[in-house]
Amino acid sequence: MGKAKKAKKIALQKYAQMKKMINPRDSRIKPELRAPPKKVKKEDPTQLKVTEVPQQSSALFFQYNMQLGPPYHILVDTNFINFSIKNKLDIFENMMECLYAKCIPYITDCVMGELEKLGQKYKVALRIVKDPRFERLHCMHKGTYADDCIVNRVTQHKCYIVATNDKDLKRRIRKIPGVPVMYVAQHRYTIERMPDAYGAPKK
Ligand SMILES: [Zn+2]
Repeated sequence: MGKAKKAKKIALQKYAQMKKMINPRDSRIKPELRAPPKKVKKEDPTQLKVTEVPQQSSALFFQYNMQLGPPYHILVDTNFINFSIKNKLDIFENMMECLYAKCIPYITDCVMGELEKLGQKYKVALRIVKDPRFERLHCMHKGTYADDCIVNRVTQHKCYIVATNDKDLKRRIRKIPGVPVMYVAQHRYTIERMPDAYGAPKK
């Protein structure tokens, strides 16, 4: 092989190597043969970042929900009032006994509506919730279906305990982090998801 030929061969090899290495978007390639530039989406700093993960309540940063009292804010449903009456339990006294702290029971418009619908038989319940120690929460929603209302309230505000003996509502509340459930068991009030509470079941 002549010197010139050898040199040409090396040059060709180098060219082939370069060709292999060259980026298909290299500016040295003719524009019509060049690969289109990679689309890099510029981040807009003014745009709110969308995250797929539901936001955790900051109240749940600690092991227990720090927005809970004392005083404890307790959302009471129709069924809890009726269970209390059946078991002859004074709501204020027994809430205090369960949590060993000041408790403020809350009645929503829709729970009041449910009690009013139940009629004469539940006169006692109505009289109880009209006690001024019960705080009233006003509802913006239609109808008197209290379960959805209570679930919505505790999802938005982590400052409540829900008092109910309704199986379905209890199940729904358990899915929401940081919301304890108070209920009637063995003729007294007990509470779940608040293991340090005085009235919590002892292991
Ligand atoms: Zn409501």
